[in-house]
Amino acid sequence: MALLPIRTYPDPVLRQRCARIESFDEALRRLAADMIETMHVAPGVGLAAPQVGVPLRLTVVDPTGGKDAQAIRVLVNPQIVASSGNQVDSEGCLSLPDFSDKVERPERVTLVASDLEGRPFELSGEGFLARILCHEVDHLDGVLFVDRLRGLRRERARRHLKRLLRKGETAECVAES
Ligand code: ZN
Repeated sequence: MALLPIRTYPDPVLRQRCARIESFDEALRRLAADMIETMHVAPGVGLAAPQVGVPLRLTVVDPTGGKDAQAIRVLVNPQIVASSGNQVDSEGCLSLPDFSDKVERPERVTLVASDLEGRPFELSGEGFLARILCHEVDHLDGVLFVDRLRGLRRERARRHLKRLLRKGETAECVAES
């Protein structure tokens, strides 16, 4: 297994609509294993393939943050098929360092996905798990949690993204020189 570099805003891969996975091969299993390790070390409770530069519909989640191996889920081609209720709580993202804000999400969601062998399954979650599932599925469509903010929260997020953008440009200048 290997740790993968996490892509941060404004990396364009974070804004791509990711492609459906059609081949359930060794490369996919390796990617998922590396993503789980990367998520735990970060540390985070979810990681989507575009966050490690791979525009495919794959995400890994672990609401226990590495405390319970049974809680790890690998979701290939996940699709939310039902949601209900709503909750507002603080959210952050490994690809948007040093920023968090309160986001409205459904209280309960059900999704369908495939496992690494291509076998379909259904997963339901509520509360924190529902929030993670929504956040990760959004990543596969190029959507970041800041896009879900409204009003003053959105303004605050926009200022933070501008700062990240400037930092990105500075880093590029240094890398090129
Ligand atoms: Zn994220």
